[in-house]
Amino acid sequence: MKQFFFVILLSVLVVACGDPSSNRKVPFENITVTNYSNVPLFPESQIVDCHSRNFADNIQFGLHLFLNGKSTFEYMNFSGLIHLSLIEDGQIIARTVYGEKVEIIRSPIQDRYIGIEGPKKVSLCADLDQYEQGTIESAALNAAYFISKTNAKFKTAVKDINIRPITLNISPSILQSNIVENYAGEKIKESSYWTDNALYTPLNESITFLPHSQEMRKMGLTVNFWEVPMIASHEYGHHIYQAIFPHSRGLSLGCFDHLKKKTKPKNKSYGFRVVSMDDIMTAYNEAFADLISYYTLEEHERGVEGIMCLKVTRDVGSSVMINGKSKVITKSLIHSFFSFFEESSSCDYPSYQEVHILGASLAFSMDQLMNSHTSSKEEKLRILVAWVKDLKANHKKYKELLPRKYFENTMTAFIEMNLKQFHDQDQGCEAVKASFPGLEINGCSNGL
Ligand SMILES: [Zn+2]
Repeated sequence: MKQFFFVILLSVLVVACGDPSSNRKVPFENITVTNYSNVPLFPESQIVDCHSRNFADNIQFGLHLFLNGKSTFEYMNFSGLIHLSLIEDGQIIARTVYGEKVEIIRSPIQDRYIGIEGPKKVSLCADLDQYEQGTIESAALNAAYFISKTNAKFKTAVKDINIRPITLNISPSILQSNIVENYAGEKIKESSYWTDNALYTPLNESITFLPHSQEMRKMGLTVNFWEVPMIASHEYGHHIYQAIFPHSRGLSLGCFDHLKKKTKPKNKSYGFRVVSMDDIMTAYNEAFADLISYYTLEEHERGVEGIMCLKVTRDVGSSVMINGKSKVITKSLIHSFFSFFEESSSCDYPSYQEVHILGASLAFSMDQLMNSHTSSKEEKLRILVAWVKDLKANHKKYKELLPRKYFENTMTAFIEMNLKQFHDQDQGCEAVKASFPGLEINGCSNGL
Protein backbone atom coordinates (compact mmCIF):
# COMPACT_ATOMS: atom_id res chain seq x y z
CA MET A 1 0.00 0.00 0.00
CA LYS A 2 2.79 2.34 0.91
CA GLN A 3 4.55 1.77 -2.37
CA PHE A 4 1.26 2.30 -4.19
CA PHE A 5 0.89 5.74 -2.72
CA PHE A 6 4.51 6.71 -3.29
CA VAL A 7 4.31 5.81 -6.94
CA ILE A 8 1.03 7.57 -7.41
CA LEU A 9 2.29 10.69 -5.67
CA LEU A 10 4.73 11.22 -8.47
CA SER A 11 1.78 12.44 -10.45
CA VAL A 12 1.67 15.54 -8.27
CA LEU A 13 1.59 18.58 -10.54
CA VAL A 14 0.33 16.57 -13.42
CA VAL A 15 -1.01 18.15 -16.56
CA ALA A 16 -4.39 16.77 -17.37
CA CYS A 17 -6.17 17.28 -20.60
CA GLY A 18 -9.51 16.75 -22.17
CA ASP A 19 -10.46 14.85 -25.26
CA PRO A 20 -9.41 17.16 -28.09
CA SER A 21 -12.09 15.81 -30.40
CA SER A 22 -14.88 16.74 -28.03
CA ASN A 23 -16.62 20.07 -28.42
CA ARG A 24 -18.41 19.76 -25.10
CA LYS A 25 -16.54 21.47 -22.32
CA VAL A 26 -17.18 18.93 -19.61
CA PRO A 27 -14.73 19.49 -16.81
CA PHE A 28 -12.73 16.47 -15.55
CA GLU A 29 -14.07 14.13 -18.22
CA ASN A 30 -11.34 12.06 -19.84
CA ILE A 31 -8.77 13.09 -17.29
CA THR A 32 -6.71 10.32 -15.81
CA VAL A 33 -3.96 10.07 -13.24
CA THR A 34 -4.43 11.49 -9.83
CA ASN A 35 -4.40 10.30 -6.26
CA TYR A 36 -7.42 8.58 -4.79
CA SER A 37 -8.79 8.56 -1.28
CA ASN A 38 -11.69 7.20 0.71
CA VAL A 39 -11.23 9.90 3.32
CA PRO A 40 -10.90 13.23 1.54
CA LEU A 41 -10.45 16.29 3.73
CA PHE A 42 -12.60 18.90 2.03
CA PRO A 43 -11.86 22.42 3.24
CA GLU A 44 -14.94 24.37 4.30
CA SER A 45 -16.04 27.87 3.58
CA GLN A 46 -15.50 30.09 6.64
CA ILE A 47 -18.73 31.30 8.25
CA VAL A 48 -18.53 35.06 8.60
CA ASP A 49 -21.12 37.48 9.89
CA CYS A 50 -20.32 39.87 7.08
CA HIS A 51 -21.39 43.51 7.13
CA SER A 52 -19.67 44.74 4.00
CA ARG A 53 -18.66 43.22 0.72
CA ASN A 54 -17.50 46.56 -0.69
CA PHE A 55 -13.76 46.61 -0.88
CA ALA A 56 -11.56 49.69 -0.75
CA ASP A 57 -8.97 50.25 -3.48
CA ASN A 58 -6.05 49.07 -1.41
CA ILE A 59 -6.91 45.50 -0.45
CA GLN A 60 -4.62 43.50 1.83
CA PHE A 61 -5.16 39.91 2.89
CA GLY A 62 -3.05 37.81 5.20
CA LEU A 63 -2.01 34.47 3.66
CA HIS A 64 -1.12 31.22 5.42
CA LEU A 65 1.84 29.92 3.43
CA PHE A 66 4.42 27.16 3.55
CA LEU A 67 7.80 28.71 2.73
CA ASN A 68 11.33 27.43 3.28
CA GLY A 69 10.11 24.31 5.02
CA LYS A 70 7.82 26.00 7.52
CA SER A 71 4.40 27.62 7.89
CA THR A 72 4.35 31.40 7.75
CA PHE A 73 1.82 34.19 7.56
CA GLU A 74 2.22 37.21 5.28
CA TYR A 75 0.07 40.11 4.17
CA MET A 76 -0.20 40.54 0.42
CA ASN A 77 -1.75 43.16 -1.80
CA PHE A 78 -4.82 42.08 -3.77
CA SER A 79 -5.59 45.38 -5.46
CA GLY A 80 -7.02 44.78 -8.91
CA LEU A 81 -7.60 41.08 -8.30
CA ILE A 82 -10.87 41.39 -6.36
CA HIS A 83 -13.90 42.63 -8.22
CA LEU A 84 -16.92 43.38 -6.05
CA SER A 85 -16.44 40.61 -3.49
CA LEU A 86 -15.19 38.00 -5.95
CA ILE A 87 -11.66 36.85 -6.77
CA GLU A 88 -11.68 37.68 -10.45
CA ASP A 89 -10.27 40.44 -12.57
CA GLY A 90 -11.35 39.16 -15.99
CA GLN A 91 -7.75 39.38 -17.21
CA ILE A 92 -5.83 36.76 -15.27
CA ILE A 93 -8.63 35.03 -13.39
CA ALA A 94 -12.06 34.67 -14.98
CA ARG A 95 -13.65 33.23 -11.85
CA THR A 96 -12.74 31.51 -8.59
CA VAL A 97 -15.12 28.73 -7.60
CA TYR A 98 -15.58 25.95 -5.04
CA GLY A 99 -18.03 23.26 -4.02
CA GLU A 100 -18.48 21.53 -7.37
CA LYS A 101 -19.63 17.91 -7.04
CA VAL A 102 -19.35 15.35 -9.81
CA GLU A 103 -19.22 11.60 -10.23
CA ILE A 104 -17.32 9.93 -13.01
CA ILE A 105 -18.42 6.36 -13.65
CA ARG A 106 -15.89 4.32 -15.57
CA SER A 107 -16.83 0.97 -17.04
CA PRO A 108 -15.31 -1.16 -19.81
CA ILE A 109 -18.22 -0.14 -22.08
CA GLN A 110 -18.40 3.60 -21.56
CA ASP A 111 -17.57 6.41 -19.17
CA ARG A 112 -20.33 8.52 -17.71
CA TYR A 113 -20.00 11.96 -16.18
CA ILE A 114 -22.67 13.07 -13.72
CA GLY A 115 -22.81 16.65 -12.51
CA ILE A 116 -24.28 16.56 -8.99
CA GLU A 117 -23.79 20.14 -7.87
CA GLY A 118 -22.48 23.13 -9.80
CA PRO A 119 -19.58 25.28 -8.63
CA LYS A 120 -20.23 28.38 -6.51
CA LYS A 121 -18.19 31.56 -6.63
CA VAL A 122 -15.88 32.27 -3.70
CA SER A 123 -17.15 35.49 -2.12
CA LEU A 124 -15.02 37.53 0.30
CA CYS A 125 -15.99 39.79 3.15
CA ALA A 126 -14.50 43.28 3.44
CA ASP A 127 -14.74 43.14 7.25
CA LEU A 128 -11.82 40.70 7.33
CA ASP A 129 -8.17 41.01 6.40
CA GLN A 130 -7.44 37.30 6.75
CA TYR A 131 -9.21 33.94 6.62
CA GLU A 132 -8.52 30.93 8.80
CA GLN A 133 -5.92 28.46 7.55
CA GLY A 134 -7.42 25.56 5.61
CA THR A 135 -10.65 27.31 4.57
CA ILE A 136 -11.89 27.60 0.99
CA GLU A 137 -11.31 31.38 1.07
CA SER A 138 -7.76 31.02 2.37
CA ALA A 139 -6.93 28.44 -0.32
CA ALA A 140 -8.48 30.58 -3.07
CA LEU A 141 -6.60 33.73 -1.97
CA ASN A 142 -3.26 31.89 -1.89
CA ALA A 143 -3.65 30.34 -5.33
CA ALA A 144 -5.01 33.52 -6.91
CA TYR A 145 -2.22 35.66 -5.48
CA PHE A 146 0.64 33.55 -6.85
CA ILE A 147 -1.05 32.95 -10.18
CA SER A 148 -1.41 36.69 -10.65
CA LYS A 149 2.19 37.23 -9.55
CA THR A 150 3.45 34.71 -12.10
CA ASN A 151 1.32 36.35 -14.78
CA ALA A 152 2.65 39.84 -13.96
CA LYS A 153 6.31 38.76 -13.88
CA PHE A 154 5.98 36.78 -17.06
CA LYS A 155 4.37 39.71 -18.86
CA THR A 156 7.17 42.09 -17.92
CA ALA A 157 9.57 39.78 -19.76
CA VAL A 158 7.42 38.51 -22.64
CA LYS A 159 4.90 40.88 -24.16
CA ASP A 160 3.58 39.15 -27.25
CA ILE A 161 1.78 36.14 -25.74
CA ASN A 162 -1.96 36.41 -25.24
CA ILE A 163 -2.75 34.53 -22.03
CA ARG A 164 -6.45 33.92 -21.57
CA PRO A 165 -8.04 34.23 -18.10
CA ILE A 166 -8.31 30.97 -16.19
CA THR A 167 -10.91 29.47 -13.89
CA LEU A 168 -9.59 28.68 -10.44
CA ASN A 169 -11.41 25.69 -8.99
CA ILE A 170 -10.90 25.07 -5.28
CA SER A 171 -11.40 21.60 -3.90
CA PRO A 172 -14.17 20.09 -6.05
CA SER A 173 -15.62 16.78 -4.93
CA ILE A 174 -14.81 14.34 -7.74
CA LEU A 175 -15.92 10.82 -7.03
CA GLN A 176 -14.59 8.26 -9.45
CA SER A 177 -16.53 5.00 -9.59
CA ASN A 178 -15.08 2.08 -11.46
CA ILE A 179 -17.42 -0.71 -12.53
CA VAL A 180 -15.45 -3.91 -12.18
CA GLU A 181 -16.16 -7.62 -12.02
CA ASN A 182 -15.50 -9.42 -8.76
CA TYR A 183 -14.20 -13.00 -8.45
CA ALA A 184 -17.77 -14.34 -8.83
CA GLY A 185 -18.24 -12.50 -12.11
CA GLU A 186 -20.62 -9.94 -10.60
CA LYS A 187 -20.37 -6.30 -11.54
CA ILE A 188 -19.49 -4.09 -8.57
CA LYS A 189 -18.86 -0.42 -8.15
CA GLU A 190 -15.68 0.78 -6.45
CA SER A 191 -15.62 4.46 -5.62
CA SER A 192 -12.98 6.85 -4.33
CA TYR A 193 -12.31 10.58 -4.45
CA TRP A 194 -9.65 12.44 -6.40
CA THR A 195 -7.30 14.02 -3.88
CA ASP A 196 -3.83 15.38 -3.19
CA ASN A 197 -3.04 16.94 -6.50
CA ALA A 198 -3.23 20.09 -8.55
CA LEU A 199 -4.30 19.97 -12.17
CA TYR A 200 -4.26 22.20 -15.19
CA THR A 201 -7.04 21.36 -17.62
CA PRO A 202 -6.52 22.94 -21.07
CA LEU A 203 -10.00 22.04 -22.30
CA ASN A 204 -11.75 24.49 -20.00
CA GLU A 205 -8.65 26.51 -19.06
CA SER A 206 -8.88 25.78 -15.38
CA ILE A 207 -6.51 25.20 -12.51
CA THR A 208 -7.90 22.83 -9.91
CA PHE A 209 -6.67 22.26 -6.39
CA LEU A 210 -7.96 18.90 -5.15
CA PRO A 211 -8.58 18.32 -1.45
CA HIS A 212 -6.00 16.79 0.80
CA SER A 213 -6.67 13.30 2.21
CA GLN A 214 -6.32 11.59 5.54
CA GLU A 215 -4.32 8.76 3.97
CA MET A 216 -1.70 11.16 2.62
CA ARG A 217 -1.58 13.12 5.84
CA LYS A 218 -0.77 9.90 7.71
CA MET A 219 1.99 9.20 5.22
CA GLY A 220 3.69 12.48 6.00
CA LEU A 221 2.42 14.83 3.33
CA THR A 222 0.93 17.39 5.67
CA VAL A 223 1.18 20.54 3.56
CA ASN A 224 -1.84 21.78 1.63
CA PHE A 225 -0.77 22.33 -1.97
CA TRP A 226 -2.38 25.76 -2.13
CA GLU A 227 -0.01 26.88 0.63
CA VAL A 228 3.00 26.22 -1.61
CA PRO A 229 3.41 29.10 -4.09
CA MET A 230 5.48 26.98 -6.48
CA ILE A 231 2.51 24.68 -7.13
CA ALA A 232 0.03 27.41 -8.18
CA SER A 233 2.75 29.05 -10.25
CA HIS A 234 3.74 25.72 -11.86
CA GLU A 235 0.14 24.98 -12.89
CA TYR A 236 -0.13 28.46 -14.36
CA GLY A 237 3.11 27.70 -16.22
CA HIS A 238 1.20 24.92 -18.04
CA HIS A 239 -1.40 27.50 -19.01
CA ILE A 240 1.31 29.77 -20.44
CA TYR A 241 2.75 26.81 -22.36
CA GLN A 242 -0.72 26.14 -23.72
CA ALA A 243 -1.01 29.81 -24.77
CA ILE A 244 2.22 29.51 -26.79
CA PHE A 245 1.71 25.97 -28.12
CA PRO A 246 -1.91 24.85 -27.85
CA HIS A 247 -1.13 21.27 -28.77
CA SER A 248 -3.67 19.50 -26.61
CA ARG A 249 -6.56 21.08 -28.50
CA GLY A 250 -5.17 21.80 -31.92
CA LEU A 251 -3.00 18.80 -32.58
CA SER A 252 -4.87 15.92 -30.95
CA LEU A 253 -1.97 14.71 -28.88
CA GLY A 254 -4.24 12.99 -26.38
CA CYS A 255 -3.92 12.91 -22.65
CA PHE A 256 -0.80 13.25 -20.57
CA ASP A 257 -1.33 10.05 -18.64
CA HIS A 258 2.26 8.96 -18.67
CA LEU A 259 2.08 7.00 -15.44
CA LYS A 260 -0.73 4.93 -16.84
CA LYS A 261 1.28 4.27 -19.98
CA LYS A 262 4.30 3.43 -17.93
CA THR A 263 2.47 0.77 -15.97
CA LYS A 264 0.66 -0.59 -19.01
CA PRO A 265 3.29 -0.89 -21.73
CA LYS A 266 1.95 -0.71 -25.27
CA ASN A 267 3.56 -3.93 -26.31
CA LYS A 268 1.97 -6.09 -23.66
CA SER A 269 3.02 -9.45 -25.04
CA TYR A 270 6.68 -8.61 -24.52
CA GLY A 271 6.17 -6.18 -21.65
CA PHE A 272 8.35 -3.59 -23.36
CA ARG A 273 8.07 0.04 -22.56
CA VAL A 274 7.49 2.34 -25.52
CA VAL A 275 8.30 6.05 -25.28
CA SER A 276 6.24 8.29 -27.54
CA MET A 277 6.70 11.85 -28.71
CA ASP A 278 3.83 12.82 -26.38
CA ASP A 279 5.90 11.68 -23.40
CA ILE A 280 8.75 13.97 -24.43
CA MET A 281 6.38 16.87 -25.03
CA THR A 282 4.89 16.29 -21.59
CA ALA A 283 8.34 16.32 -20.00
CA TYR A 284 9.05 19.60 -21.84
CA ASN A 285 5.77 21.02 -20.55
CA GLU A 286 6.76 19.96 -17.01
CA ALA A 287 10.25 21.47 -17.34
CA PHE A 288 8.72 24.68 -18.70
CA ALA A 289 6.24 24.92 -15.81
CA ASP A 290 8.99 24.32 -13.21
CA LEU A 291 11.10 27.06 -14.83
CA ILE A 292 8.17 29.48 -15.01
CA SER A 293 7.66 29.17 -11.25
CA TYR A 294 11.42 29.45 -10.67
CA TYR A 295 11.76 32.66 -12.67
CA THR A 296 8.52 34.41 -11.69
CA LEU A 297 8.51 33.88 -7.92
CA GLU A 298 10.91 35.42 -5.40
CA GLU A 299 13.65 33.19 -4.09
CA HIS A 300 11.98 32.76 -0.69
CA GLU A 301 8.66 31.85 -2.37
CA ARG A 302 9.70 29.30 -4.92
CA GLY A 303 11.23 26.63 -2.70
CA VAL A 304 9.98 23.07 -2.24
CA GLU A 305 11.85 22.38 1.00
CA GLY A 306 10.04 20.09 3.41
CA ILE A 307 7.42 18.90 0.91
CA MET A 308 7.32 15.16 0.42
CA CYS A 309 7.97 14.06 -3.18
CA LEU A 310 8.98 17.56 -4.31
CA LYS A 311 11.87 18.49 -2.03
CA VAL A 312 15.32 18.61 -3.64
CA THR A 313 14.12 16.74 -6.76
CA ARG A 314 11.86 19.55 -7.99
CA ASP A 315 14.15 22.38 -6.87
CA VAL A 316 15.40 23.78 -10.18
CA GLY A 317 18.56 25.04 -8.48
CA SER A 318 19.52 21.59 -7.22
CA SER A 319 21.89 19.61 -9.44
CA VAL A 320 20.73 16.33 -7.91
CA MET A 321 17.53 14.45 -7.06
CA ILE A 322 16.56 13.52 -3.51
CA ASN A 323 18.69 10.35 -3.68
CA GLY A 324 21.75 12.14 -5.05
CA LYS A 325 21.13 11.15 -8.68
CA SER A 326 22.43 13.78 -11.12
CA LYS A 327 20.18 15.99 -13.27
CA VAL A 328 22.86 16.59 -15.91
CA ILE A 329 21.65 15.42 -19.34
CA THR A 330 24.16 12.64 -19.89
CA LYS A 331 24.06 9.78 -22.39
CA SER A 332 23.04 7.41 -19.63
CA LEU A 333 20.13 9.65 -18.57
CA ILE A 334 18.86 9.72 -22.16
CA HIS A 335 19.37 5.98 -22.43
CA SER A 336 17.36 5.42 -19.26
CA PHE A 337 14.44 7.56 -20.48
CA PHE A 338 14.22 5.73 -23.81
CA SER A 339 14.89 2.28 -22.40
CA PHE A 340 12.57 -0.60 -23.32
CA PHE A 341 12.90 -1.81 -19.77
CA GLU A 342 10.90 -0.26 -17.06
CA GLU A 343 12.63 1.07 -13.96
CA SER A 344 10.78 1.35 -10.68
CA SER A 345 10.21 4.88 -9.51
CA SER A 346 9.19 6.43 -6.22
CA CYS A 347 9.47 9.76 -4.44
CA ASP A 348 12.64 8.61 -2.67
CA TYR A 349 14.18 6.84 -5.68
CA PRO A 350 12.99 8.77 -8.74
CA SER A 351 13.51 7.35 -12.21
CA TYR A 352 14.29 9.50 -15.25
CA GLN A 353 11.53 7.54 -17.01
CA GLU A 354 8.89 9.49 -15.11
CA VAL A 355 7.98 12.65 -17.07
CA HIS A 356 8.15 14.98 -14.06
CA ILE A 357 11.63 13.67 -13.27
CA LEU A 358 12.93 14.05 -16.82
CA GLY A 359 11.25 17.48 -16.71
CA ALA A 360 13.10 18.34 -13.48
CA SER A 361 16.41 17.22 -15.01
CA LEU A 362 15.77 19.33 -18.11
CA ALA A 363 14.72 22.35 -16.03
CA PHE A 364 18.00 22.22 -14.07
CA SER A 365 20.18 21.70 -17.17
CA MET A 366 18.40 24.36 -19.24
CA ASP A 367 18.74 26.84 -16.38
CA GLN A 368 22.43 26.00 -15.97
CA LEU A 369 23.13 26.55 -19.64
CA MET A 370 21.29 29.89 -19.63
CA ASN A 371 23.12 30.84 -16.41
CA SER A 372 26.42 30.60 -18.22
CA HIS A 373 25.55 33.63 -20.36
CA THR A 374 22.88 35.52 -18.40
CA SER A 375 21.62 35.91 -14.86
CA SER A 376 18.52 37.80 -15.99
CA LYS A 377 15.30 35.91 -15.30
CA GLU A 378 13.55 37.99 -17.98
CA GLU A 379 16.15 37.02 -20.57
CA LYS A 380 15.83 33.36 -19.59
CA LEU A 381 12.04 33.56 -19.93
CA ARG A 382 12.41 35.04 -23.41
CA ILE A 383 14.76 32.26 -24.52
CA LEU A 384 12.43 29.63 -23.08
CA VAL A 385 9.44 31.10 -24.92
CA ALA A 386 11.42 31.37 -28.17
CA TRP A 387 12.19 27.65 -27.85
CA VAL A 388 8.52 26.65 -27.31
CA LYS A 389 7.60 28.85 -30.28
CA ASP A 390 10.16 26.90 -32.29
CA LEU A 391 8.59 23.60 -31.14
CA LYS A 392 5.26 24.86 -32.42
CA ALA A 393 6.52 26.42 -35.66
CA ASN A 394 8.42 23.29 -36.67
CA HIS A 395 5.97 20.76 -35.26
CA LYS A 396 5.05 19.37 -38.68
CA LYS A 397 8.70 18.71 -39.42
CA TYR A 398 9.53 17.44 -35.94
CA LYS A 399 6.61 15.02 -35.69
CA GLU A 400 7.97 12.97 -38.59
CA LEU A 401 10.93 12.04 -36.43
CA LEU A 402 11.29 9.02 -34.20
CA PRO A 403 10.90 9.97 -30.52
CA ARG A 404 14.60 9.82 -29.71
CA LYS A 405 15.49 11.93 -32.73
CA TYR A 406 12.70 14.34 -31.79
CA PHE A 407 14.28 14.74 -28.35
CA GLU A 408 17.79 15.24 -29.77
CA ASN A 409 16.73 17.73 -32.44
CA THR A 410 14.46 19.81 -30.24
CA MET A 411 16.99 19.98 -27.39
CA THR A 412 19.67 20.88 -29.93
CA ALA A 413 17.43 23.75 -31.07
CA PHE A 414 17.38 25.02 -27.48
CA ILE A 415 21.15 24.64 -27.11
CA GLU A 416 21.82 26.48 -30.39
CA MET A 417 19.62 29.38 -29.29
CA ASN A 418 21.89 29.69 -26.27
CA LEU A 419 25.15 29.22 -28.17
CA LYS A 420 24.29 32.36 -30.16
CA GLN A 421 24.48 34.34 -26.92
CA PHE A 422 28.19 33.59 -26.42
CA HIS A 423 30.84 35.83 -28.00
CA ASP A 424 33.36 33.05 -27.61
CA GLN A 425 32.26 29.77 -29.24
CA ASP A 426 34.62 27.66 -27.09
CA GLN A 427 33.15 29.12 -23.95
CA GLY A 428 29.65 28.27 -25.22
CA CYS A 429 30.71 24.71 -26.01
CA GLU A 430 32.17 24.32 -22.53
CA ALA A 431 28.82 25.37 -21.04
CA VAL A 432 26.97 22.87 -23.25
CA LYS A 433 29.39 20.14 -22.23
CA ALA A 434 28.67 20.85 -18.55
CA SER A 435 24.86 20.67 -18.81
CA PHE A 436 24.16 18.50 -21.86
CA PRO A 437 27.16 16.17 -22.29
CA GLY A 438 24.81 13.50 -23.66
CA LEU A 439 24.07 15.47 -26.83
CA GLU A 440 26.41 16.00 -29.75
CA ILE A 441 26.17 19.52 -31.10
CA ASN A 442 27.44 20.55 -34.51
CA GLY A 443 30.16 23.14 -34.17
CA CYS A 444 30.99 21.90 -30.70
CA SER A 445 32.03 18.36 -31.58
CA ASN A 446 35.75 19.19 -31.52
CA GLY A 447 35.43 20.79 -28.14
CA LEU A 448 33.58 17.76 -26.83
ZN1 LIG B 1 2.94 19.90 -14.10
